[in-house]
Amino acid sequence: MLKTFIGRLRELFTVSGDSPELVQAQFRAFCRQMPTLYFILTVSTLAVSYTFSSRAPLWLSVYLPVAVCLICVGRFVWWLRAGGKPVSHEVALHHLRLTNVLAALLSVALSTWGLNLYGYGDAHAQGHVIFYMALTVIGCIFCLMHLRSAAIAVTLIVIVPYILFLMAKGGPTERAIAVNLALVCMAMISVLLTHYRDFKALIASRRDLTRQQAETQALSNENFRIANIDALTGLANRRRFFYDAEAAFDVVRDSRMPLAIGVIDLDGFKPVNDTFGHAVGDRVLVEAAERFGAIVAATRPLKAAVYRLGGDEFGLIVQGDMTATDLEDLGRRLTEVMSRPFRTGQAHAQMACSVGFAQWPRSGDSAESLFECADYALYHAKRHLRGQTVLFSAEHQAEIINQSVVERNLQAADLSAELSLVYQPLIDLRTGGTVGFEALARWDNPTLGRVGPAVFIPAAERAGLIGTVTRVLLEKALREARTWPSAIGLSFNLSAHDICAAEGVVRLIAIVHASGIDPKRIDFEITETAMAADFERAHQSITALKALGCQVSLDDFGTGYSSLNYVHRLPLDRIKVDRSFVADLDTNPASRKIVKSLTSLCLDFGLTSVIEGVETAEQLEVLAGLNGDLAQGYLFARPMPALEIPAYLAGEAIAFTAPLVRRD
Ligand code: C2E
Ligand code: CA
Ligand code: CA
Repeated sequence: MLKTFIGRLRELFTVSGDSPELVQAQFRAFCRQMPTLYFILTVSTLAVSYTFSSRAPLWLSVYLPVAVCLICVGRFVWWLRAGGKPVSHEVALHHLRLTNVLAALLSVALSTWGLNLYGYGDAHAQGHVIFYMALTVIGCIFCLMHLRSAAIAVTLIVIVPYILFLMAKGGPTERAIAVNLALVCMAMISVLLTHYRDFKALIASRRDLTRQQAETQALSNENFRIANIDALTGLANRRRFFYDAEAAFDVVRDSRMPLAIGVIDLDGFKPVNDTFGHAVGDRVLVEAAERFGAIVAATRPLKAAVYRLGGDEFGLIVQGDMTATDLEDLGRRLTEVMSRPFRTGQAHAQMACSVGFAQWPRSGDSAESLFECADYALYHAKRHLRGQTVLFSAEHQAEIINQSVVERNLQAADLSAELSLVYQPLIDLRTGGTVGFEALARWDNPTLGRVGPAVFIPAAERAGLIGTVTRVLLEKALREARTWPSAIGLSFNLSAHDICAAEGVVRLIAIVHASGIDPKRIDFEITETAMAADFERAHQSITALKALGCQVSLDDFGTGYSSLNYVHRLPLDRIKVDRSFVADLDTNPASRKIVKSLTSLCLDFGLTSVIEGVETAEQLEVLAGLNGDLAQGYLFARPMPALEIPAYLAGEAIAFTAPLVRRD
């Protein structure tokens, strides 16, 4: 019982450091209130000292109060200077405890001083002492409100002896004052205790709220992190890419510092994924991300970051004082690092990547348009400079404008009137005779004039018109082919969209049926890009065309990736060796080797080889030793309108047809 009482008493008079938030709040309150306290104390002590200077001995009336006042001024200055500056928990606690001790010591000193002075004064001077003690103490209690221990100590140390003193020594007036003072002090202590409890509770609830807020913040930070990270590679994701790009753009708009956005696309990833499975595909992506990350980390002094935009596409944001050469350099390092082989279990996969960059302020006036320009540069790289870096340029800008003009005119065009076909013969290298014609599309538009398929086919794909374009062309081609001798075949080009769209081939099959032509005479040419886009769909479509009795050729062979993979897995009839290998056949031994190995491959797989783009007699000469089956090119004939075909075939029949090349 006694122990708990002493314990509670001790608790009442000590400053606890248990709650750092409370200590800090008390300290902050004191920084505002302590200067007031010391000011009141100093001024009123000096006033009493002045009243008694001629009545009491100097040590009591002057020296002692001045000494106390000097301490007060010292503390006054300290608290004034401490105001507003953040301090550590230890420093705050130290000064609260010091204040606690000082409050007790000053109370003892000043109340003893007052009591001693009292005897030297007349009624007025004594009244001053009573007034001084009572009011100063009330002022001090208010100022010490946030430190319960100090406030109670001051009240008890000053007031209790005073009341006892006045009761014992004073007349009726002094006793009445004593009673009054006792009542006021009791009321003040009660107010003080309530206030202190509320203050503590407020700080505690604020602390809980802060903790809660901190926890909520931590949780939302984590959510934000997860929402912005690509789970597979650990790189920042597409959302983050656009967020950062916008933020970077906001900065550079003010600072005029150059900014570039890049897009990287892996070349040959789809075949790896199809052949080795998704687990290997995932590993390749992770490793690609690591390789890109390492290159990007070494771009100092430029600031660069890499993101995974989805699939096998990555994004780059580059900031800093850069030139086009710096970007080309960065692109070269990225393509180089991707060309190193990837381990895929037992085997190695060879891949590459193409990069498109767009620079601000040269291209695009927003993060989004800069990205679109970079994407266009990438598209350009993939079509014309695979495995390389392309910077968006003024020519690209002009192309985009051209393309949108083409797209708009295509949308408004009367397709069945404006589309037509020209035909280029396929020559049997053994007999020199024409075995068929490849139909090549032409578009004659009243506004644009004649537009080549390399321009309008991609435009039709983008505008979602390719299905209609293909059907119009196929109907025309079949109608014209019906008039040819039955031994002459028709090769017809399909776009990736034709064989990847769900109802695409079904409608083509219906057209072939309706034409009444023998499906065996028809050969559909399909490029590798179509396989890469959606292998399963493409496979199904090819199987359906084969089931109809048509033939299927793999066009532009050798320009894509993992070509062998397709040859192996698809029910093909022919392979058309891309004309880029033929162009320097007579001058470049490497091209010779490639063509030779491709024709051998066709022999091994029982496929017919078609050599495209034979332009010169020299090329044909070299071809002689390379075992090709069929050939096509300006040397034999340029693409011709359907009307010229009867005359062409008749002329050929009259001419002496002999084997063009010797068969090994
Ligand atoms: P492709 O299938 O590789 O067609 C062969 C292209 O090479 C044709 O260009 C042809 O005119 C050209 N060519 C033929 N012999 C030679 C030669 O000896 N030297 C050179 N330098 N070129 C030669 P064209 O007609 O401009 O067609 C370009 C591409 O457009 C075609 O490439 C094909 O991919 C596409 N295309 C053409 N017609 C159609 C079509 O009806 N539908 C679809 N989807 N694509 C088509
Ligand atoms: Ca073709
Ligand atoms: Ca071709």
